[in-house]
Amino acid sequence: MLATLDSADVLSPEQQARLQHLLEHERTELVGQISDLESELESLAQQEGPIEVQFDDESGEGAGVNVDADRDRSLLAQLRFQAVEVDEALARLEAGTYGFCEDCGQPIAPERLEAIPTARSCVRCKTGGLLARAGRR
Ligand SMILES: [Zn+2]
Repeated sequence: MLATLDSADVLSPEQQARLQHLLEHERTELVGQISDLESELESLAQQEGPIEVQFDDESGEGAGVNVDADRDRSLLAQLRFQAVEVDEALARLEAGTYGFCEDCGQPIAPERLEAIPTARSCVRCKTGGLLARAGRR
């Protein structure tokens, strides 16, 4: 049972189950953080408006709200991006294509997946791809 072909490079069912659990947990966390941020942004939006008139105030108080909103918006964008990555990783698990490189089709090293459960490509393609992109410029 243990000694199947190339078993070292392919995820065991146990590893897959653990990663799936990890991804599902991360998804729940992300969904919670996203909805927290959304309601925070909504309340910030309600505070905006009249406050902006104080922009020329030396204290800079008026700008505070907008800076917060900007920071929240960029954080929200990051979280949404991560949530999509997690969703797609879970979809790949469903489809049975999880753990294989999207570029070369080879299995992604289990250690890499343990470190980055949403990884889509193997280290070789990832670094090779980045180098190739940098070289094209
Ligand atoms: Zn690859």
